[in-house]
Amino acid sequence: MVDFIQAISALDEQVLNTYPISDPAEINRQIYAARLSAKTWAGYSVADRVKLLSTLKAIILADIDVITETIMTVTGKVKTEVLLGEIYPVLELLRYYEKNAARILAPCRLSTSPLAFPNASAQFERRPYGVVAIISPWNFPFQLTLSPLLTALFGGNAVIFKTSDLSIPVGELIMQLLGRCDLPAELVQHVIGKAETGEHLIDGRPDLIFFTGGVKAGRAIMARAAQHPVPVILELGGKDAMLVFDDANLRRACNAALYGAFSNSGQVCVAVERLYVQDGCYRQFVQMLQDATAKLTVGHGETGDLGALTSLDQYAIVEAHYRDALAKGAKASGPLQLNGRYLQPVVLWDVTQDMRIMREETFGALLPVMAFSTEEQALQLANDSDYGLNASVWSTDIDKAERVAKQLQVGNWAVNDVIKNIGHAGLPFGGVKNSGFGRYHGAEGLRNFTATVSGLTSRSKLDDEPNWFPYSDLRYLQMRGFIDFIFGNGSLWQRISRNWQALQAFREYGQSNARQHWENFLIFIFRRRDY
Ligand code: NAD
Repeated sequence: MVDFIQAISALDEQVLNTYPISDPAEINRQIYAARLSAKTWAGYSVADRVKLLSTLKAIILADIDVITETIMTVTGKVKTEVLLGEIYPVLELLRYYEKNAARILAPCRLSTSPLAFPNASAQFERRPYGVVAIISPWNFPFQLTLSPLLTALFGGNAVIFKTSDLSIPVGELIMQLLGRCDLPAELVQHVIGKAETGEHLIDGRPDLIFFTGGVKAGRAIMARAAQHPVPVILELGGKDAMLVFDDANLRRACNAALYGAFSNSGQVCVAVERLYVQDGCYRQFVQMLQDATAKLTVGHGETGDLGALTSLDQYAIVEAHYRDALAKGAKASGPLQLNGRYLQPVVLWDVTQDMRIMREETFGALLPVMAFSTEEQALQLANDSDYGLNASVWSTDIDKAERVAKQLQVGNWAVNDVIKNIGHAGLPFGGVKNSGFGRYHGAEGLRNFTATVSGLTSRSKLDDEPNWFPYSDLRYLQMRGFIDFIFGNGSLWQRISRNWQALQAFREYGQSNARQHWENFLIFIFRRRDY
């Protein structure tokens, strides 16, 4: 019997559509079809892949208002948030790989040591994994599905993706948009369901899993993938710190803190979830935050800053963190007010590091603020976290800000800005600690969707090599001399003369293809090339 799942609008809780849940047999069929399609796609040159995928930019731009409307209806986001948080990063990623994918994925040739690898050449190339499974969350269902999905396609893979069960119409929208790109049939396929369906997808043994979501699910996915084993990239949650020094532009820092903590109602993996302010400006800054928060608007009217909550389940966590903070002595700019799905943002100050709001991911519109006195203390507080995704440092002294930023235990940082750094398509993005591992975006991010295959070609005409059998005490001494000649101390002549006897093991090299060999040998010795 087929089970069904309903898609509900976060705006008014109306049923948008009903979908059949993908069963394991269907998922296995999809993976089989994806494997066939992956073979065709891997045969396209990178330039041809880029040509086809680039058409998506014009397709998105032509329908930008319809796309915005759909994402808004499903997620409850305000429209500007959809444009900036969902659509813009995808266009930017497309533009970046359109320009750079061929260079990033180009095969590479390396020089070789003429004694270790005489008459040989070395090379490596990047091959697609095959079928990549992408499992994405509900908070940015368009961007956090399409960005890894497109990267996998640029890398030459087929993709099977599962959006959150709260975001299925966005998955459908992605299928419709890609359907207009003239890609091979079944190169991209959509799997529908909840966590259990994600488990079936993993058990179908894709060649790589790219997961974005919470730590709990990340652990379960990694454990399940280990049974096969399938490699995983995990983009998990965060508890991002913002450090504001006395000498910061306080007006800018205040506006950024509000945006960083409250955009998308705080349902952002790189939201500002801990704000540390230096004691010289702490009281003034808290007052500025309260005044500015009071001016924010909630709703989908002409001027709404914060939209509706995408997941009402998340509210229980927000409420628990709020209550815990107040019970332990924090002060709040107002009560926690949820009207329907619309939550008023709240600033909490005089919080302490032991409160739940400073330790666990809240994923809601609460901004906890705490004072620090010295640079060392700021670093100690910021690094005192199980998470390590993003962070920001605020000061007009850029040297100091960068010095502090570089000591933060995070995968990414920004100085005098928040959140936006994730939108730079050239910057590899990912976390440390409980925020996950692996990177996407940038050159490293694209290469992570490929397996590196290395090759070595010998053109030697010799029947034998000094490292082959038979072994003997003499061969041991010769190889010891060879190691001393290559890595030992002293000038070239000192190393040759003390190891002359040992180097006789290689005399055949000089006799076969002598000219080429000695040329390589001299280049190697004198330039000590990095090979
Ligand atoms: P989630 O972890 O509950 O679910 C994410 C996806 O994984 C969903 O599609 C879900 O159905 C699937 N899933 C859950 N358990 C699974 C399992 N055992 N096996 C297979 N699939 C499984 O996350 P969510 O609630 O949708 O999203 C919110 C979380 O995502 C937050 O913790 C947030 O910080 C994190 N997040 C991280 C990033 C990042 O880039 N690091 C970005 C956005 C969101």
